[in-house]
Amino acid sequence: MGWAAHLANVATSTAQTAATALLAALPDLRAHGNLPDACDEILDAHAQATRAVDAPAHRAIITIGACPEAACQGTIRAFIPADTRPARMACDIGDHTWGTRDWLRIGGHIQQMRERMSA
Ligand SMILES: [Zn+2]
Repeated sequence: MGWAAHLANVATSTAQTAATALLAALPDLRAHGNLPDACDEILDAHAQATRAVDAPAHRAIITIGACPEAACQGTIRAFIPADTRPARMACDIGDHTWGTRDWLRIGGHIQQMRERMSA
């Protein structure tokens, strides 16, 4: 069992308990015959945790255009989540949001608004 796996088996539900477990393991780490491997495992575990925490919430955010709701001056953006949550469109100033089922209909409204403004 590697060092990172050993520490993962200790009750490490928070960063503080993980740090406490690591501090408690320092004497064993110092006496370990292959300290570079232990350091590599700890650094790999740190990199994995950093990637998990820093993962973007959205795979893409796409600006669509002006909000089609009456008297709203907001801009609509489509949010495509990085995880399995459903995509949505939302206005940046009003409480206007639409699920993917409404996208075609809202797209039609936005297109009609653009045509009226350019006419
Ligand atoms: Zn709006």
